[in-house]
Amino acid sequence: FNNELQHAEKMEIISELAASVAHEVRNPLQVTRGFLQLLGERSAVSEKAYIGMALEELDRASGIITDFLTFAKPGAENIKIMSIDEEFRHIEGVLTPLASIHHGQIALDLEPDLYVKGNSSKFKQAFINMIKNSIEALPSEDGRIDVRASRENGQVVIRIRDNGLGMAPEELKRLGEPYFSNKTKGTGLGLMVTFRIVEAMQGTLTFDSKKGAGTEATVRFPEASE
Ligand code: ADP
Ligand code: MG
Repeated sequence: FNNELQHAEKMEIISELAASVAHEVRNPLQVTRGFLQLLGERSAVSEKAYIGMALEELDRASGIITDFLTFAKPGAENIKIMSIDEEFRHIEGVLTPLASIHHGQIALDLEPDLYVKGNSSKFKQAFINMIKNSIEALPSEDGRIDVRASRENGQVVIRIRDNGLGMAPEELKRLGEPYFSNKTKGTGLGLMVTFRIVEAMQGTLTFDSKKGAGTEATVRFPEASE
């Protein structure tokens, strides 16, 4: 109990800090991006490459800031009833090109007429973070990501299963911890944000994984009616 209380207090402090830093840093980043783009248009081919890299890194920084902002504000605004089918068709559209690059396929198997309540862009962010992790873990061929949604005991249950790298128990335990990442260009913020969004929607998120075999994430939400 004691531990939990301390955890909640820490989270509150981190949230407030994150929100203010994110706001302050976002604007200068956007301005810098604009100038760099202008420079890029006017420069020689060899310089264009460097400017391209600089833009990429700026976008990475913006991504990190977005994650912190979402963590601070996981979606109390713009709440609506969302169709699981609609949301996942959109997510599939966004992530299919990335999956193809990694020689993987995303397959949806969604029970019709499932609805949940929340902020649609945060909902998408939560699942995009998870499915991206699956894509990044895929083997070099025949990668497969199965997204299933069904109704179970008055809950909407969403399962994301991949045949990727998988995780050892020590890694599993650390999921959602800020900065926990095994990737050279990882931030370790993706799942932290995902957990937070799911929690804000009164949902739960659990992982089941086996090193070398794959991973399955299970998300449960209260069911909403249309
Ligand atoms: P990042 O993707 O920036 O590393 P995340 O919070 O999204 O940060 O994920 C943290 C770590 O959890 C990843 O670096 C990876 O080691 C592990 N992980 C998450 N999802 C999966 C998955 N589906 N398969 C294998 N490892 C995973
Ligand atoms: Mg990630």
